Amino acid sequence: MASIEFRQVTKTFEKHTVIKDLDLTIEDGKFTVLVGPSGCGKTTLLRMIAGIDPQTSGQVLINGKDVTSITPGKRGVAMVFQNYAIYPTMSVRENIEFGLKNNKVPKAERTRLVETISATVGLYEYLDRKPSTLSGGQRQRVALARAMVKQPSVFLMDEPLSNLDAKLRVQMRIELIELHKKLGTTFVYVTHDQVEAMSMADTIVLMNQGQIQQEAPPDVMYRQPNNLFAAQFIGVPPMNVGDLGVGGVKYGFRPESAILSAKPAEHHLSLRGVIVTREMLGSETIYQVRSGPDAFMVKCTEDLFAVDQEVYLGVPEAKLDFFGADNNRIGKD
Ligand code: ATP
Repeated sequence: MASIEFRQVTKTFEKHTVIKDLDLTIEDGKFTVLVGPSGCGKTTLLRMIAGIDPQTSGQVLINGKDVTSITPGKRGVAMVFQNYAIYPTMSVRENIEFGLKNNKVPKAERTRLVETISATVGLYEYLDRKPSTLSGGQRQRVALARAMVKQPSVFLMDEPLSNLDAKLRVQMRIELIELHKKLGTTFVYVTHDQVEAMSMADTIVLMNQGQIQQEAPPDVMYRQPNNLFAAQFIGVPPMNVGDLGVGGVKYGFRPESAILSAKPAEHHLSLRGVIVTREMLGSETIYQVRSGPDAFMVKCTEDLFAVDQEVYLGVPEAKLDFFGADNNRIGKD
C-alpha cells in the first residue's frame, strides 16, 4: 500500500503550462478518482505518478519518498488503460504471465500467481482462451489481471471503462469497487464521467484547467460544492443557477430540491414559470421550467405536469446555495 503526494508540482509541455504549483495528497489504500473536463490535466497527473512523463518542477512522493529519480518499473505502480493493452495472439494465461516471465519469476510462482489472480477477477475458466473470444468486460479483466500480477502498491487507471457499453460499465464499476475492497490497495482512477466518480470514489479530486477545484468524498462534493464549477460539474442534471441581481451574487439549487405546484405556494424562493420539456424516466420525471430569461431543471418523483402548463417553482431556504462574485460558495466551510 502507498500514499502519494504532489508538492508544488508544475508540468510544462514546450511552453504550455498544464499544471501549476499543484499540492495534493492521495491517501494510502483509498479509491481516489481524478475527474474533470477533457484536457484539464488528469492523465498528466497519472503519468507523473507512474514516472512515464515526469514533472517539470516540484516533487512527487510515494510513501513519503521522492520518486523523481526512480524509473517507472521500480515505483511499485501499475497502470490500466482504456485500450486494454493486451496481446491478441497470446492466451489469457500468457497475457497475464507476460510481465512475470520478463522479470524471470520462477515457473511455479508464476502459475500460482496467474491462477490466484485470474480467480479473483473471474477469469480462471478462460485462461486458455484467446482475447478475441472474450467479451469486452472479460478483456478489461485481463488488463486488470495483468496489472495485478505485478502486485503493485498503487493502481493507476486511465478511463479503463470508456470502451465498454453502458450496461457493462455499470457492472464493471461494481467489480472495481469490490476488487478495491479485496486488495486494499491505493487506486487512482481517471475519468471525465462524474457518475463514475460519484459511484466509485472514496475521495473525488475535481480538476479544471490544471487546478484542483475541490477534494472531497462524493456526498460532500454534492452537498457542499466549493464553487460554481463544482456545483455544475457534479450531478445530473447539474445544479440550477440563477442571478439574484444584487452585487453579482448567484443562487443555486439542485433539480430535486425544487417543488413544483399548479398553484402559488410559500417558499423562500418562489418563481412563476412554464414547463418547456418533460422527460419521463420511469421512477422520476425531469421537467425544464422557463421563468423569465432563466431555465431550470426540476426532478420530480411524480409525473404531474404537461408541456406548456403554467407552474410555480419553490425552493426551501435550506436547499438554496449562494455564490459570490468570485464564484465561490458563500459560507462554505
Ligand atoms: P482527457 O479527459 O481528454 O484525457 P485530461 O484531463 O486527461 O483530458 P491531459 O491529457 O492531462 O488531460 O492533458 C492536459 C493538457 O496537456 C491538454 O491541454 C493537452 O493538450 C496537454 N498535453 C498533454 N500531453 C501533451 C504532450 N505530450 N505535449 C503537449 N501537450 C500535451
